[in-house]
Amino acid sequence: MSDITANLNYLKAGIPASVKIVAVSKTKPVADIIKAYNAGQRIFGENRVKELLIKKDQLPADTEWHMIGHLQSNKVKDIASFISMIQSVDSLKLLRVIDSEAAKCRRRIKCLLQLHIAEEETKTGFSFQELTNLLSSVVQRELVNTRICGLMGMATFTDDQEQIHKEFRSLASAFRSLKSDFFADNKDFSEISMGMSGDYEIAINEGSTMIRIGSLIFGERN
Ligand SMILES: *Cc1c(COP(=O)(O)O)cnc(C)c1O
Repeated sequence: MSDITANLNYLKAGIPASVKIVAVSKTKPVADIIKAYNAGQRIFGENRVKELLIKKDQLPADTEWHMIGHLQSNKVKDIASFISMIQSVDSLKLLRVIDSEAAKCRRRIKCLLQLHIAEEETKTGFSFQELTNLLSSVVQRELVNTRICGLMGMATFTDDQEQIHKEFRSLASAFRSLKSDFFADNKDFSEISMGMSGDYEIAINEGSTMIRIGSLIFGERN
């Protein structure tokens, strides 16, 4: 058994079966992704379009690719035909471009709206107020080829466990509030993507439905 298989099995054994695992394969070679695929993993996360395009042709067609990094609007057309979910939607402009590129491909693209929950300025995403404005104005009427499936967020990189709890709790609470205000009868809006290798247990404890795990599966990145 490869380390990657063992790592995946170990991870799965420790979390509820309902929590989805996105195996974050950025910077890792295709051979490693294939090992994870052969161990049953189907969802992979990448943060660069160029790298994703090279990799996806080398994996079976039932591999689901999630974009998890900042995405430039002019790159959406390169991935619109196959991307399973764009988790890092951080502007209305991007959302509109995704919608129109999805229309050209005659498909609907699943999206998560990225909420800024960390203290650091560097982590992108909407504020809660921006999300409320966006959802109450345009999104519901205007966007027909995107499926808004929930929220994504990243906690501050810190040793302070209580702070991480607090930030994930704020994401879960934002999810519930937006769900009841804007998606009460929309089953698509169901995912809270939070938790990485260092904080996924806290995230699950606070209600994560989808964890994004890189180094714990594939080993440290250079
Ligand atoms: C790299 C990355 C991850 C995975 O990080 P690990 O700490 O290796 O698990 C998760 N989410 C996003 C947005 C990332 O860029």
